[in-house]
Amino acid sequence: MSTQSATDVMTGKEVTAGPIVLLGSPGAGKGTQAKIITGRYGVPHVSTGDLLRDNVSRVTELGKKAKAIMERGDLVPDDLVLDMVGERLVAADCDKGFILDGFPRTTAQAEWLDRFLASRTFAGRFLPPIVIKVQVGYNQLLQRLTGRRTCPACGRIYNVYLQPPRREGFCDVDGAPLIQRKDDSEEVISERLKTYERQTLPLADYYRRQGRLYEVNGELPVEQVTAEMHSLIEKLRAAHD
Ligand code: AMP
Repeated sequence: MSTQSATDVMTGKEVTAGPIVLLGSPGAGKGTQAKIITGRYGVPHVSTGDLLRDNVSRVTELGKKAKAIMERGDLVPDDLVLDMVGERLVAADCDKGFILDGFPRTTAQAEWLDRFLASRTFAGRFLPPIVIKVQVGYNQLLQRLTGRRTCPACGRIYNVYLQPPRREGFCDVDGAPLIQRKDDSEEVISERLKTYERQTLPLADYYRRQGRLYEVNGELPVEQVTAEMHSLIEKLRAAHD
């Protein structure tokens, strides 16, 4: 990750990213975008799915409770997720902001985040979340999810149909064998997409009512989606200065 922070082109001042929320269906590309954006603003990528998977693989108390729920494609109960996120967001590396991927996922989680942000400053300022929804059509989502492979060593994400590694089954960066997430099997994917429609779509309305929802077309090439996100973030944060 680059430590170089972005500066505003008009003022030359460093951009404080503050809290950024990426919304969108599983497979919309939130993780891919979050990994790129973090480098530009020097803030961490906080993926609740990654945090939960890490707990599952370390067989922590939380991991034991979450494992079966995640394998079915359901949501882990709020009390477990909120404690985990609360702990993560007070870490020192979140001082200038963070990129939330996979959180909030329910309106109750979004309300919790609003309360959390009301008592939290970034580089000395209160900043509201910038909420960006990444939109991708259903067929494209299916192809992305069934084809998704991840490098367990460096976290890089590939797709066997759309962005295959140079050597089939192995990471381009470090040569580690790629893995397929257990919940990226077809039956679980359809369950996850249903859960998304039922529980996470209402979140878009929640943020729309607050006038905070911005949408980007996630079917565009990765670099174009990133460019749109950067320009949105910089415009909105400049408006706060
Ligand atoms: P993801 O990597 O974001 O697709 O998340 C994988 C799985 O982790 C989901 O299908 C849920 O079971 C669980 N999960 C991730 N984030 C949350 C959250 N904010 N609330 C509840 N469950 C979550």
